[in-house]
Amino acid sequence: MKYKSVPGNQFASDNQAGICPEAWEAMAQANNGYASSYGDDAWTGKACESIRDLFETDCDVFFVFNGTAANSMALASLCQSYHGIVCHQSAHVETDECGAVEFFSNGTKILLVGGENGKIDLSAVQHAVERRQDIHYPKPKALSLTQSTELGTVYSVAELQRIRELAARFSLKVHMDGARFANAVASLGVTPKEITWQAGVDVLCFGGTKNGFSVGEAVVFFNRELAYEFDYRCKQAGQLASKMRFLSAPWIGALQSGAWLKNAAHANKFAKLIEQQAAGVPGVKVKYPCQANEVFLQMPAATLNALRRRGWHFYTFIGTDSARFVCSWATREEDVKALIGDIRELSENPEKPHVVNKKPKR
Ligand SMILES: *Cc1c(COP(=O)(O)O)cnc(C)c1O
Repeated sequence: MKYKSVPGNQFASDNQAGICPEAWEAMAQANNGYASSYGDDAWTGKACESIRDLFETDCDVFFVFNGTAANSMALASLCQSYHGIVCHQSAHVETDECGAVEFFSNGTKILLVGGENGKIDLSAVQHAVERRQDIHYPKPKALSLTQSTELGTVYSVAELQRIRELAARFSLKVHMDGARFANAVASLGVTPKEITWQAGVDVLCFGGTKNGFSVGEAVVFFNRELAYEFDYRCKQAGQLASKMRFLSAPWIGALQSGAWLKNAAHANKFAKLIEQQAAGVPGVKVKYPCQANEVFLQMPAATLNALRRRGWHFYTFIGTDSARFVCSWATREEDVKALIGDIRELSENPEKPHVVNKKPKR
């Protein structure tokens, strides 16, 4: 099987890339005869072991289909319906999950706080918890962080330790939305344990999809008491895969080969390149420091429209007033260079016609 690089004008999301070779290979290996269903198979057992090895601790692991389910079921297992979940106002659980957190937790209220560059402001968290402590207000019970954040930044180990202290002070359980967790690990150059259980994270939703899998996220409970009856929650929510081996096998392939980190570092590197190159273009402003695989660029609407006319894909509904460009394991250097070339050219003159390289006629 050959994995061909394909030209990519897709910078809208890392979930627009295909499946990385290591994940694909692992699925092919699992595709061998019969295996017990619903997770009672050797692949799933081995994938859980690989995740425990990666985090260097005993943790409870569950494989689910997507990030929305992972986040909302994990948060539901931290809360009762009368509780509150504190998170950043740009958090995926607030802005992009269609109320799934509230739905799966039977009405737990999300309490929004601000903070620069997509990271929660600690005094805002404190205010959200302390402003009301009476029976009429939902009792804050959980804190949800996104690592790396929705705005392409990363919480440092020191920041996480400060968050941990605050969470402990107010008895808040800590959930981490790690749809792009690998990108944070690659960016910080730390071991996974340093930014999870050693930083007080109770449960991590560890993203596979955006890292290069076909489908699937792992819900990792470091606080194992919180995993009580989580298997029932998965089943009721329609998140218990009967052919579980195909959800779990990619984890074995990606973790044992190191592809999970290689993919993330690759994506981060190209986002950084876009940031560095675009920063020098007149009329273009980098909105947030690029610390993972996403870069947000502010530029005139005419330039954005011209880029779209040339076939570039990117989102403008995330963050404020800017276009988001996301790199993935599959991003190619030539595509990044072509994108930067077009940003340069079209910032100068959005009306400039596109000259396609034509072979001279003979
Ligand atoms: C993509 C993403 C998710 C998961 O989204 P699904 O489409 O439900 O898999 C969760 N959190 C963040 C920050 C994301 O970017």
